[in-house]
Amino acid sequence: MNVRDSEAVEALMRAAGHEKAASEKEAELVIINSCTVRQKAEEKAVGKAGNMIAAKKLTGLMGCAVKRMGADVFKRLPKLDFAVGPRAFGLIPRIVAEGRFPRLELGEDVVPEGMDAHVEGGWQAFVTVLLGCDNRCSYCIVPDVRGHEYSRPAKEVVAEVAALAGRGVREVCLLGQSVLRYGVRNPAWDDGAPGEAFPRLLRAIAGIDGIERIRFTSAHPKGCTDELIDVFRDCPKVCRHIHLPVQSGSDRILAAMGRRYTREEYLAAVARLRALDPEFAVTTDVIVGYPGETEADFEATRSLMEEAGFDNSFVFKYSPRPGTRSAALPDDVPTAEKERRDQVLLADQEARGLARNARLVGTVREVMVEGPSKRNAARWSGRDGGNRIVVWDVRDGVPRPAPGTKAMLRITDAHAQILVGEP
Ligand code: SAH
Ligand code: SF4
Repeated sequence: MNVRDSEAVEALMRAAGHEKAASEKEAELVIINSCTVRQKAEEKAVGKAGNMIAAKKLTGLMGCAVKRMGADVFKRLPKLDFAVGPRAFGLIPRIVAEGRFPRLELGEDVVPEGMDAHVEGGWQAFVTVLLGCDNRCSYCIVPDVRGHEYSRPAKEVVAEVAALAGRGVREVCLLGQSVLRYGVRNPAWDDGAPGEAFPRLLRAIAGIDGIERIRFTSAHPKGCTDELIDVFRDCPKVCRHIHLPVQSGSDRILAAMGRRYTREEYLAAVARLRALDPEFAVTTDVIVGYPGETEADFEATRSLMEEAGFDNSFVFKYSPRPGTRSAALPDDVPTAEKERRDQVLLADQEARGLARNARLVGTVREVMVEGPSKRNAARWSGRDGGNRIVVWDVRDGVPRPAPGTKAMLRITDAHAQILVGEP
């Protein structure tokens, strides 16, 4: 979501007559987009802003950490020029033009101006469809900083994607913190037609010429309805990959987190997707070391991850965030133990990823070409519908496939994070 917001700011700044500097060193103005989901992320953003100020750049900080710190941001960075919250980024071109520093705009719970601004070029685009979050998981600061949930009108989203398609975009990724809640808090469609809002949105976007792949993130088991599964069945453009953060495999911890599903309900959602397609890619987020997480809770997470057969997973060490419900609980899992649990899950995932990928050797994958690999220009790279990276050698004399086009690759070898193929 921050990558998308940064892109919108880039587009707005270009429209206001600015140019993108060739390097950080040459830049006169540096804008840092911050995350505050964990303490470390916030420190990294503040540290980077401090470096830019020391390098005498005009420096702005945007995003979630600004909203969390409020006016205190200037206590931590006294010489910061401006700071804007995550729903106020549309003000940046005006703030820069007016030049009255220091300036703080935390923004209100509104739709940001410039929400639909995109940088020209490229075949992939992110499109924000749902702003904010109303879930209030116990550990999470996102609802405090990104505000209440708001579903953008479906007509606007469809028009935005059609405009992107007209400019050569072939793959879109629809974004929302809990994107399957699209249309739940406020209606997204105004035509009164039946059907769940998000599956309808996917179908409408699948009808746009030029768009070849549709992805979305993040999902929640409650949104994995029959209608959603029907869309995966009926629309080949909708990629068979779901990012379905589980956070824990222990019912006790899931209840404490306020996640609104049990281990069994979560696994049932995964089973329904895999019943449609055994190769359906399922990825997840997990938190280790939540307050009170015992060895037994942790082992429950391990076994759930194995049962779900995750194709990939992102593991986070619990970080108490001010103002969240869990911040009132003792952060009682020692740092070294969080680290150990993190390492165990990473090692499990490495072995599981390898085993899952090995099953694909001999199959033919349809890959969207991304371009030459950074390390070896004779080796090309792309992703299959499951978001798996596929690399292959391009022989001399054979035309190089263009980024954003599709290629068919037979898989010859598998690693935990990469498939190797041949045309
Ligand atoms: N909206 C997404 C998650 C956004 S935050 C969802 O609910 O699916 C991305 C990930 O950061 C979360 O899935 C969670 O695993 C992690 N995270 C959030 N708050 C955290 C905290 N306080 N400590 C550690 N990890 C956290
Ligand atoms: Fe945070 Fe939960 Fe909302 Fe995700 S769904 S952003 S974890 S509160």
